[in-house]
Amino acid sequence: MWVIVHAMSGMALGAVLGSAGVGFPLWGILLASLAAHALLDIVPHWDYTRRRRAWAWALADTLAAALALGLAWLILDLPGYVVWAGLISAAPDLDVLDAVLPFKKHRRLFPSHWKPYPHGKTGSLPGTVIQGLVVTGSVVVLLLAL
Ligand SMILES: [Zn+2]
Repeated sequence: MWVIVHAMSGMALGAVLGSAGVGFPLWGILLASLAAHALLDIVPHWDYTRRRRAWAWALADTLAAALALGLAWLILDLPGYVVWAGLISAAPDLDVLDAVLPFKKHRRLFPSHWKPYPHGKTGSLPGTVIQGLVVTGSVVVLLLAL
């Protein structure tokens, strides 16, 4: 999934797990955020990494994630565990940056990016709608949990 989707879903998960009623420790929230990345990569979605001008998609996606995390941290003043969860959930997608760079190494460190992993795939329209729904759901959960 796109970086922004992992950033938003990570923040939502962090908000739930770190809330007073649940009270996960930070290390548990961060581990859960990584696990959520791997689970969301199973959901059928559309990746731009094989598109023409993939670098532009990657740049826009990464900037959107950075903007969302920066907004959460600096403007909305959300708790640190929420911002860290979003950052850690999005971080494994740095793994696929080489797919959009001129030189191809195809070295993957995060397990959900390895070949045998059941990485979900679908067409561009349903794959984008699904990711939009995950972002929308994440915003709702984030608002409810804080
Ligand atoms: Zn991924």
